[in-house]
Amino acid sequence: MPGIKQETPAGGTVRVRFAPSPTGPLHIGGARSALFNWLFARRYGGVFLVRIEDTDLERSSKVSEHSILDDLLWLGIDWDEGIRVGGACGPYRQTERLELYRKHAGELLARRYAYYCYCSEEDLAAERESLLARGEMPRYLGRCRSLDSAGRARLEGEGRRPVVRFKVPSDRIVNINDLVRGEVSFECSGIGDFIIMKSDGIPTYNFAVVVDDHTMSISHVIRAEEHLSNTPRQVLLYEALGWLAPDFAHISLILGRDRSKMSKRHGATAIGQYREKGYLPEALVNFLALLGWSPEGEEEIFSLEQLKEMFSLDRVAKSPAVFDLDKLNWLNGHYIRRLPVERLTELAIPFLERAGYIKPPVSPERYNWLKLAVSSVQEYLSCVEEVVAHVGIYFTDEVTLEGEEAGIVMAQDQVPAVLTTLRDKLSGACELTARLARELLKEVGKETGAGGKKVFMPVRIALTGRTHGPELNQVMAILGREKVAARLTAALERDNKDL
Ligand code: GLU
Repeated sequence: MPGIKQETPAGGTVRVRFAPSPTGPLHIGGARSALFNWLFARRYGGVFLVRIEDTDLERSSKVSEHSILDDLLWLGIDWDEGIRVGGACGPYRQTERLELYRKHAGELLARRYAYYCYCSEEDLAAERESLLARGEMPRYLGRCRSLDSAGRARLEGEGRRPVVRFKVPSDRIVNINDLVRGEVSFECSGIGDFIIMKSDGIPTYNFAVVVDDHTMSISHVIRAEEHLSNTPRQVLLYEALGWLAPDFAHISLILGRDRSKMSKRHGATAIGQYREKGYLPEALVNFLALLGWSPEGEEEIFSLEQLKEMFSLDRVAKSPAVFDLDKLNWLNGHYIRRLPVERLTELAIPFLERAGYIKPPVSPERYNWLKLAVSSVQEYLSCVEEVVAHVGIYFTDEVTLEGEEAGIVMAQDQVPAVLTTLRDKLSGACELTARLARELLKEVGKETGAGGKKVFMPVRIALTGRTHGPELNQVMAILGREKVAARLTAALERDNKDL
């Protein structure tokens, strides 16, 4: 692609990072950034590290930090260096690196790339208003740039505590050669001198991220497009500090199906919400990888192992990715169908417990029975949570007819004979296996002269209330002889009453 740089640095080691702010759970967008970084590191034999950007003291919490890290691990995204695992560039939590930011802010101050600013909220609001009134971009115009030491002393005497601002050269144009977006230019005139250290000694995001990415030797910054507008500020800081900037790759926004920015309105946005509904990590990872990246060819099913052999930034799209829940459901259904039944049963048990269908501890016999019940509905699930609705027929004794068609079928002439014949045959049977059930249904067909659907449909409806569902002989085996007989009787009685 013209204008796009080679994605691997010539001879350099790939070191990439995911740097979440622990102000909430891990969202789809964050998980995608983490995944793309992870895949890039794995593809090029590099290092993937995780750093916690907790400088927003009010909104950051350890609970969010743990939940983000746990969700990453659940997705199969591990890290070589960083929080929890350590490494040579630690600590990996920004609030534990404050000395480092202060040191570099001190350097910028000493070299006059930065200055103390004492403007109050009111001063700034007034400046903002007058700029807006003149139709100009609101920005800081540099009132404190030329304060001398006497002026500073006077303001400090008033009890004002300064922030540190970076001097933005207003005549500059910053060009960024983004690995996804190509050449992007920013005029500095609209930026204004921005704060790098707040008055409480905490760095701002733009400053801390530069100090950290440099001191952690990050080679590529792969992150969400919303940070593109921060990048010129960061590039100016790299220059002022005399550091080489990493390569940048800004991945596109994620939109909902209505093409507006993905938000809660479009459904669950947190990875944990999908985890709770019984989406599988392998499905989510596959889905996230395709949110903005595409392989060559038509294939859409990929494991993490396959993805890390294939991923490259040159196949990351510039255009926004669209979050398509139907596609996620389809992928998840695909992975659920491939699960060993034991694993699916394990995953289903908490849902069945919550629904009140089972109570722990589950005895070995009951577990084997559960496996049969779960396996009979495996192909219908697009997430594990749905198991509850599908296996409900095995747990309730009340059968209610669902839909108009069920009533129409049950009104057919052959129905009483079919149900009665089957019930009579059952009384002779000891254990009702799926194979025996199939035999019995066949015999009922022969004896009543009503083959195929004329037998299966009323029996299915009598047992489940529904016209569709798992294989009928399996349903019969799972319900067992007594329940089948009782439901046939109930259906016959219902039929009599209706007459
Ligand atoms: N802490 C920032 C965020 O969560 C990281 C941005 C970056 O990757 O530079 O959005």
